[in-house]
Amino acid sequence: MANNDEFDETDEQDAKWLSNFMSKMQKKAQAAFGALTSVAEEKNDEELDDLREEIEDRQTRWFAFTNKLEERAKELFDEALPQLRALRKSDEDIYKSNYNKALSGVCGQLSAIRDKAFKAKDKEIVDFNYYAKDKIPSSHSLSKKLDKFWYDANEEFERFDMAIYELDKRLLEDAENDLEGEYQEIIDSFNAQKGNFKCSQCGATLQIERIFFIDVNVACGVCASQNSFEPSSQARRLQFIANDLAKKRCKPLLKAYEEEEQKERDLYQQAHELRLNAIHESARRKAEIEKERDRLNKLREEAIKNAPRLYSLYLRAVCDELNKILPEFKEHHEKMYIEQSGQIFQIKESE
Ligand SMILES: [Zn+2]
Repeated sequence: MANNDEFDETDEQDAKWLSNFMSKMQKKAQAAFGALTSVAEEKNDEELDDLREEIEDRQTRWFAFTNKLEERAKELFDEALPQLRALRKSDEDIYKSNYNKALSGVCGQLSAIRDKAFKAKDKEIVDFNYYAKDKIPSSHSLSKKLDKFWYDANEEFERFDMAIYELDKRLLEDAENDLEGEYQEIIDSFNAQKGNFKCSQCGATLQIERIFFIDVNVACGVCASQNSFEPSSQARRLQFIANDLAKKRCKPLLKAYEEEEQKERDLYQQAHELRLNAIHESARRKAEIEKERDRLNKLREEAIKNAPRLYSLYLRAVCDELNKILPEFKEHHEKMYIEQSGQIFQIKESE
């Protein structure tokens, strides 16, 4: 027993010693670790200060860069627009090839400016964001600054992109806005020409019932000899602008159709979001949400039915306009209309 007590005693002493030793070691380790972490923090602070500067610097440079590019695009647009207008007017080719080449050239330059910003964004914003995110602890205040930088830089790109898109759209629509004027010029020149169209045999004025854009033979009402009527180059262009002109005149109908399509997408999105929100709601609230979803789905069904009907109305109106502009092609227009509207309903039915 004594031996055992002795052993126990020694054991107890050993245990005490061990515990003291452990606690001393722990303090030493803590001191060492503390020194280590404070060095790391210091180093980190320095790095984060650099990053903070870098974020601010990048933000300033990015905005300056997009603004400069936008300015360049606007200069290009302002310079090109009057030149394109003049070229469109003077280009006697019925396809307006030179004008179209020049137009796509300017649009290409605009798109190159946009690409430049897109590439810069990839390198200077996207890559940097990954790099900085990796360095900044998510709890650190700088993390919020980086998020804001990311948000602002992207928003600025969206704004810039939209501004370039608008310039591009305005260039393309400028020709469209000229269509009515061009059509009127064709009609005026045709009317002037037709009054001067005289029989080569007897000199009687020849009657031309409607506008032609191809060579036609007209019999003289007095001496019955055949005369060839050659429309002006402007009148020959009628067949090429007729389609664009008809579509332009019916644009509000196309817009109504597009809005109906958008409505369908919006209703789908709303119903979808309601379903997601309902997950954590009470049973009573769930039932209410379900009712609201039913209502939205019914509206959506209506929009789905309505959209092809609206598109068909648009096609019908375009066909009517084409018949007015080029009555001699009525049969062709009607055939096109039946084909196109048939396709719409076939697609919708097979969906
Ligand atoms: Zn005659």
